[in-house]
Amino acid sequence: MTTVADATIDSEQARVNEAIDKLLADFPPATTDVVTFLGAQFDLGLAWVHFTEGDGGLALNPKHQRTINERIFEAGGPNPYYRNPIGYGMCGPTVEVWGSDDQKQRYLRPLFTGEEVWCQLFSEPGSGSDFAGLSGRGVRDGDEWIVNGQKVWTTLAHISRWGLLVFRTDPDVPKHAGLTAWVVDMKAPGVEVRPLRQMTGEAEFNEVYFTDVRIPDAERLGDPGAGWRVSLTTLMNERVSIGGAIAPKGSGAIGAAVKVWQDTPVELRDPAMKDELMKLWIEAEVNRLTNLRAGANRKMGTPGPEGSTGKLAFAESNKRIYEFTMNLMGANGMLYGKYDMVRPEHAMGADTMQKAFLRSRANSIEGGTSEVMRNILGERVLGLPGDVRVDKDIAWSTVPRN
Ligand SMILES: Cc1cc2nc3c(=O)[nH]c(=O)nc-3n(C[C@H](O)[C@H](O)[C@H](O)COP(=O)(O)OP(=O)(O)OC[C@H]3O[C@@H](n4cnc5c(N)ncnc54)[C@H](O)[C@@H]3O)c2cc1C
Repeated sequence: MTTVADATIDSEQARVNEAIDKLLADFPPATTDVVTFLGAQFDLGLAWVHFTEGDGGLALNPKHQRTINERIFEAGGPNPYYRNPIGYGMCGPTVEVWGSDDQKQRYLRPLFTGEEVWCQLFSEPGSGSDFAGLSGRGVRDGDEWIVNGQKVWTTLAHISRWGLLVFRTDPDVPKHAGLTAWVVDMKAPGVEVRPLRQMTGEAEFNEVYFTDVRIPDAERLGDPGAGWRVSLTTLMNERVSIGGAIAPKGSGAIGAAVKVWQDTPVELRDPAMKDELMKLWIEAEVNRLTNLRAGANRKMGTPGPEGSTGKLAFAESNKRIYEFTMNLMGANGMLYGKYDMVRPEHAMGADTMQKAFLRSRANSIEGGTSEVMRNILGERVLGLPGDVRVDKDIAWSTVPRN
């Protein structure tokens, strides 16, 4: 029996298909440059299909995005995530929820086309998992805010035009209540970006120093003091963005591991290793199907704590797969090629197995560590007793710290 909900989804699907047909007919990916294609995708509401019309969406159920992406990638179209992962996966959705009409109009299109890269300025040297405990300061000065402090691990800050910044504007209330969020101009006077080298040899991320940087009040996202709620939108989208991608069956890390297995001479293929590969394949497929189900169940709006399941499973499984692959490669796994320090234009690049292995170690740290994901699952999904939090209800300025 067809329900009202099914009929709605069918009519939405028809609308989406029509828009994709138009996009691919008017802007064939093979002959259209990336920026023009992505601009047209945005204008047709196929950028983030659940966003409001005019903001790159059609105000439809987010599950249609999967069809859109699949059809565009099959036709050889570009992936907006590749050029601007933090912008597309996290900052865009945050601006859509919390930004003013002017901010949405100004920022979303060039963000989606990758003409303007974005970064996420949340973590500080003393506040990563405990991000709400951060100590960078923002002080109001008429129609502007003056901000001072240091951020760290800021992916792609060196090529970013805009950043999503959270600093403390009221130290005399509990930590979650005293934060404010803004869009910050990464070219403003007083913003200094310094590279931080990772074990891959690359400096994909950076330290960012703010010294008396002035931010217009019009660039605030949400009310003063609402920075924690704003950042939850970013963090929930981050987890889905990192762990929720639904690649075709047998592709991604597990596909690469199978390829290494196939390229390994038959006499070196140990049955115990084959067993291990099969277990990893099943694990990767279970994660993929779980993400598919979570995507299908997702209603409009910001993803919920289920995103942490996908993020946790992805991180741990990816690390196991690349460890297995290194073992399979034996001594070849130690051949790394050049180790020159470069500041890449893309994040999460892994052009060799060895580099993919080294890069995968960060999966259980970036976007929230696996321990923190387990806390979220325990508390918000399973309803277990909460972590011990002694500083939750007292003014941030009175919390002992070194
Ligand atoms: C490759 C990469 C890219 C990144 N990009 C960005 C970015 O673009 N922007 C940005 O703002 N940040 C970024 N980060 C930072 C990332 O979000 C933090 O590293 C992460 O949140 C952990 O914080 P921390 O490094 O301060 O570790 P800590 O919070 O100091 O954690 C140290 C250890 O303690 C554990 N721990 C902490 N609290 C708890 C708890 N309550 N219960 C159990 N265990 C706990 C952690 O799991 C970890 O093992 C990036 C990190 C990496 C690795």
